[in-house]
Amino acid sequence: MSSVPVAVVTGSNKGIGLAIVQALCKQFQGDVYLTARDPGRGQEVVAKLQGEGLRVLFHQLDIDDLQSIRALRDFLKEKYGGLNVLINNAGIAFKVHDTTPFAIQAEVTLKTNFFGTRNVCTELLPLVKPYGKVVNVSSMVSSSALRGCSQELQQKFRSDVITEDELVELMNKFVEDVKKGVHDKEGWPNTAYGVSKIGVTVLSRIQARMLNEKRKGDHILLNACCPGWVRTDMAGPKATKSPEEGAETPVYLALLPSGADGPHGQFVSDKTVRTW
Ligand code: NAP
Repeated sequence: MSSVPVAVVTGSNKGIGLAIVQALCKQFQGDVYLTARDPGRGQEVVAKLQGEGLRVLFHQLDIDDLQSIRALRDFLKEKYGGLNVLINNAGIAFKVHDTTPFAIQAEVTLKTNFFGTRNVCTELLPLVKPYGKVVNVSSMVSSSALRGCSQELQQKFRSDVITEDELVELMNKFVEDVKKGVHDKEGWPNTAYGVSKIGVTVLSRIQARMLNEKRKGDHILLNACCPGWVRTDMAGPKATKSPEEGAETPVYLALLPSGADGPHGQFVSDKTVRTW
């Protein structure tokens, strides 16, 4: 078993995830795994990076597929006995003008951004080694969507005692309410992406709390962040930040010094803790 530190970035064959991998290859002392749901797309990028002299490794990971997540989990367990840095970056967004019915957009978006990310956490968090770092890439849109929720929902999402099961129930309720055409009446905002990212931010707050309760002595730091508005296939060419700039906050959180006791359980953008 290798004692080399290991970092894993989900959805890293392009966009912000790829820029995170490139930055980690230069700054993280250990093995860096670029992961992609499509091995062809992933390995093509890995070959290119290796051609540029970067030391990067590849593993397949589709966060929508539990078997794929478990295969990565078993690999990391066997080869490294765990992992040191996990960056949950993979995500999707329908384009503003996409005509796919909202009920389908809600189901598909929540499936990857919330439920997929949660499944990765469920399988990989127990493997994170002492002084490890976990970064969940959320979005500022989670904050604006939160403000668009009813007072009752806002209170639940800001709660310091909400459980993961309660959060899952709420995310499922959003999808069901959209399907029934009652999401407006039930206090939800009109954004599936926004609700999925509320889920990611709140999940991070819950997970950080659980780490405090169950693994305090392990000094693991876990945060949600927004990379900013970044020029990728998701956000388009008019966005203000380059992918390298978008990678800065996630990489900062992934490389917090081992002596740091925070940020932890926060929502961070531009390397600054934001009020949730
Ligand atoms: P992107 O260029 O569209 O890249 C998204 C990445 O996620 C791709 O590698 C994609 O793989 C991967 N992915 C999607 N579904 C996946 C799945 N089921 N399993 C594994 N990988 C999957 O988007 P981006 O702008 O870099 O976004 C990265 C993260 O930042 C997302 O979580 C996004 O919500 C967040 N974010 C972005 C912005 C922005 O302005 N760009 C702002 C705030 C937050 P494929 O190539 O196979 O599709």
